[in-house]
Amino acid sequence: MGTQRELVPVDTERFGLGDDDLDAGHRLFAGAWTFDRAVPALEHLPPADRVEIAIAGRSNVGKSSLINALVNHHGLARASNTPGRTQELIFFKPPYDQLRCYLVDMPGYGYAEAPKAKVLAWTELIKAYLRGRTTLARVLLLIDARHGLKAIDREIMKLLDEAAVTYQVVLTKADKISALALPKVVAATEAALSKHAAAFPLVVATSSEKGTGFVELRALLARIVAEHTRNT
Ligand code: GDP
Repeated sequence: MGTQRELVPVDTERFGLGDDDLDAGHRLFAGAWTFDRAVPALEHLPPADRVEIAIAGRSNVGKSSLINALVNHHGLARASNTPGRTQELIFFKPPYDQLRCYLVDMPGYGYAEAPKAKVLAWTELIKAYLRGRTTLARVLLLIDARHGLKAIDREIMKLLDEAAVTYQVVLTKADKISALALPKVVAATEAALSKHAAAFPLVVATSSEKGTGFVELRALLARIVAEHTRNT
């Protein structure tokens, strides 16, 4: 972990992160995260007794890669968002119960190859989960840094606004655009988010390929878990 902090530039100032936050982020993801369960219907949800952080994004946005990079486990999340695949919520759990949280992998939406890419494929299960899950503390909304927010992403943001779920945009594949273009995409995305009450104002730019942004993201997630665990 120390090595990653040295190799990749870490922007603590932008997110107001101190050493305690970075350490908490490190602790949360230091051990082996594992698959907990696949939830095909609401009655299969685990008891709502700990914080949940869900991860959503268009198919092929880099969601599986991001989850694997976040937990340092390259086989954990599968790239399996093929059209027509059963819409399931996949729960991942940390190695120790004391960490009191789940990561929830949501089905990808809007297939890039499909002509009707603008059609929201999320089922009532997913919508009901978003609307009714009291322990859902945040949705990470993944956006490809090359493309920025698309109409389909805005539809999801509307749904999250209506469900009053706090969400946070995480840019993926930041290595695929130039160092000059990246701040512009971040700024344009943050400007769009400022008009949404349920949106966390700051965007985190990541590259699963290069490991960029993960120290910050882990620390931000640990902060969410700590805040919500205190309140429950
Ligand atoms: P998912 O469908 O959202 O789960 O997407 P995947 O994680 O399977 O990624 C889709 C494709 O994008 C794969 O070919 C990945 O190797 C590639 N990819 C994902 N993240 C990155 C990244 O940070 N940088 C680059 N260059 N490619 C990435």
